[in-house]
Amino acid sequence: MTAQIINGKDFAATIRNRVAAHVEQLKNATGSTPGLAVVLVGDDPASQVYVRSKGKQTVDVGMKGFEHRLKADTSEAELLSLIEQLNNDGSVHGILVQLPLPDHMDESLVINAINPSKDVDGFHISNVGLLGTGQKSMVPCTPLGCLMMLRNHHGSLSGLNAVVLGRSNIVGKPMANLLLNDSCTVTIAHSRTQNIQSICGQADILVAAVGRPEMITGDWIKHGATVIDVGINRIAAPEKGGGKTRLVGDCHFESCVEVAGAITPVPGGVGPMTIACLLANTLTAYCRTNNLAEPDGVTA
Ligand code: NDP
Repeated sequence: MTAQIINGKDFAATIRNRVAAHVEQLKNATGSTPGLAVVLVGDDPASQVYVRSKGKQTVDVGMKGFEHRLKADTSEAELLSLIEQLNNDGSVHGILVQLPLPDHMDESLVINAINPSKDVDGFHISNVGLLGTGQKSMVPCTPLGCLMMLRNHHGSLSGLNAVVLGRSNIVGKPMANLLLNDSCTVTIAHSRTQNIQSICGQADILVAAVGRPEMITGDWIKHGATVIDVGINRIAAPEKGGGKTRLVGDCHFESCVEVAGAITPVPGGVGPMTIACLLANTLTAYCRTNNLAEPDGVTA
């Protein structure tokens, strides 16, 4: 068996087109435009790349993008004051503070200062609680992207056995809650889990978010399972020469693709869905704030 490849790049483009069409319709109907503010503190090179990409894609779908770049030695009080200003700004519907923050800042204090209805990353404690109790919330972008791919592939997820590898607050836990809310039977595995390979072998859906390059091999996977590989790991690529590197997932693609029914590749799987879901969340936040119908097919 060779698995169907779930193409996240194409699916993300579909989501962006759906968001862009909805934004255009809103502009025509209301004369106003959803706006996303992204705050970057410091000059971490990876964060700068993400923020640039988020800004470009925001404008590409017809939304307003507001970028706030603060120096690494900005005080926590100054950042909190900017967040308050954005909370009170009617042209800003989504606020994203790029993580990680510099060491002198308290990440949860900063995240919990964002108005929960503008918290398009879904990390505010109120949104975490709403998701955990099966209520309408803002949902973290990466797990939301995984859920959309799974729903698109399976239709209903009800009754399926899902195993989530990893229990982080940004991927593993929200992913498990989303699958539970879609009536999967969910197991969360982590670094202390015993018999992890046999647990994975029971999964109709396996979501891997451990940050361990190619840890999951084909012999871990149930025949025909759907494998969502969240991991993004950079490893040495001696075959390319000159000290070059390449990206791999948490799953060993070449062996898993022979056993799974469907699988996301790395790169080109979950990665592109994350920013597409950020845009979708901004649109959702705008619609909820203005008591308008929410966009179809891009919310949990
Ligand atoms: P974290 O490091 O926060 O969490 C990793 C989780 O994996 C932990 O719960 C840890 O367990 C578990 N784990 C680590 N090693 C093992 C092991 N050997 N066996 C079983 N479980 C293990 O990572 P994140 O959740 O932030 O990210 C996970 C991966 O997803 C990374 O590769 C990251 O780069 C990628 N990522 C990709 C995104 C995308 O857009 N595609 C977005 C976000 C992340 P324990 O809790 O016991 O320590």
